[in-house]
Amino acid sequence: MTIKLPIYMDYHATTPVDPRVLDEMLPYFTQVFGNAASRNHVFGWRAEEAVEHARERVAALIGAENPKEIVFTSGATESNNLAIKGVAEFYREKGNHLVTSVIEHKAVLDTCKRLEKQGFEVTYLPVDRYGMVDPDDVRKAITNRTILVSVMLANNEVGTIQPIAEIGKITREKGVLFHSDGVQAIGKIPFDVVKSNVDLLSITAHKMYGPKGVGALYVRRSRPRVRLVAQMDGGGHERGNRSGTLNVPGIVGLGAAAEIMRREGADESTRILALRERLWKKLSSSIEDLYLNGHPERRLPGNLNVAFAYVEGEAMMMAIKDVAVSSGSACTSASLEPSYVLRAMGVGEEVAHSSIRFGLGRYTSEEEVDYVANLVTDKVNKLRAMSPLYEMVKEGIDLKSIEWTAH
Ligand SMILES: *Cc1c(COP(=O)(O)O)cnc(C)c1O
Repeated sequence: MTIKLPIYMDYHATTPVDPRVLDEMLPYFTQVFGNAASRNHVFGWRAEEAVEHARERVAALIGAENPKEIVFTSGATESNNLAIKGVAEFYREKGNHLVTSVIEHKAVLDTCKRLEKQGFEVTYLPVDRYGMVDPDDVRKAITNRTILVSVMLANNEVGTIQPIAEIGKITREKGVLFHSDGVQAIGKIPFDVVKSNVDLLSITAHKMYGPKGVGALYVRRSRPRVRLVAQMDGGGHERGNRSGTLNVPGIVGLGAAAEIMRREGADESTRILALRERLWKKLSSSIEDLYLNGHPERRLPGNLNVAFAYVEGEAMMMAIKDVAVSSGSACTSASLEPSYVLRAMGVGEEVAHSSIRFGLGRYTSEEEVDYVANLVTDKVNKLRAMSPLYEMVKEGIDLKSIEWTAH
């Protein structure tokens, strides 16, 4: 069997639109093009019907009791902003303290930083070497001024799944609202907002085989009823929570993607997990000095984050340029910074720079996994053969004993 190149293994960054999702969306561009807020004619009614159907499908995927708890947004960046700023502003009288973790997505961390400038206090909880937040730390961080805890469901770099139900028990007991960024995990692991006591949940379509630029925020309406200050002023759409003409085709796409996930997510995860294990077995049996970043078990089925010691991640990505993956470095304007997630887990700078994230998904095949495993093995060996550091290590020289001179 011949392999089609390039191969996509970056499903955490985005996913292709499932053709079934696209089929459902298409009529809403040209035929059923009404404004869902047009209450006085059939064009509007049909658009609104489609939006409400999508709302039900999204609610069903996450176990929400009432579709009215779903607020459509432009994606998870907006959902995270709306959840955190919206709660902070509404409950300011009650308290000015928020709790989150150091490994959240930038859409959460930068939102918290902005709030700090406005006088809020934020506690950033550490993680262990697997990238896990300790629920006990959440308990200890909560004061009588705390209004919100925000911890992601699963991390986008290392795939670690957080103990959300344990944290939810604590926040409920303490009477503090609980937000979770569910982007990477929804549909891929069993999850239910009611059982987990999550009060606000962010999701986005383009990480689950829907279109880019559309997402949702779950906002609990009872026990407790969560109140928000809207971040966008305008026509009062989405029950006043998010003004702006609804992206009807996008919302239909999000609904269709959610429905497919609800029906097929569990089976799909089983299949993808087997592929990930196959990739890991092949790599770890043929390459020395490689390390798994993240938790060995509590991780997303499609996530494999591996450090190939003595091989720069960037060099590796160049060497396997027909395979789309991500590295453990973040390109800032001038330099390559090691990922803040890996650093927070206590992963050394060298290891972080030699880390590669493989993201497997709906269209990943066994043939692709085998091809990538062979290619990576070959390239790691070649790159190491050219590395003076690796030579020294193999000769038994302790790198720490070398006095490096800097000029
Ligand atoms: C991709 C991602 C986001 C941002 O979602 P957008 O819809 O692209 O704005 C937020 N959180 C996590 C964990 C993500 O992976």
